[in-house]
Amino acid sequence: MYEEYRKLAEKIENITLLGRLAEYRYYDMDDVVKRALEVFEEEVR
Ligand SMILES: Cc1cc2nc3c(=O)[nH]c(=O)nc-3n(C[C@H](O)[C@H](O)[C@H](O)COP(=O)(O)OP(=O)(O)OC[C@H]3O[C@@H](n4cnc5c(N)ncnc54)[C@H](O)[C@@H]3O)c2cc1C
Repeated sequence: MYEEYRKLAEKIENITLLGRLAEYRYYDMDDVVKRALEVFEEEVR
């Protein structure tokens, strides 16, 4: 089910989904902030 949603989300331009729900992964606060900073570096800079 997650893979189906992920594939649909990939088709949407100009949106990046991340975090516990969006990635269907267990994150504590430090993990999720680290992940947000990594994605910012990869996609925005
Ligand atoms: C009871 C509990 C205790 C915790 N204690 C700790 C702790 O002590 N230390 C620690 O490091 N971590 C703790 N965590 C984990 C921490 O809360 C998460 O790591 C962190 O909140 C994950 O951030 P996130 O942005 O991925 O998700 P979230 O913080 O859940 O943010 C997701 C956001 O998306 C919104 N949303 C959802 N669906 C939609 C939609 N369709 N449209 C628009 N908005 C939507 C939600 O309202 C929410 O604001 C705890 C979690 C819980 C549940």
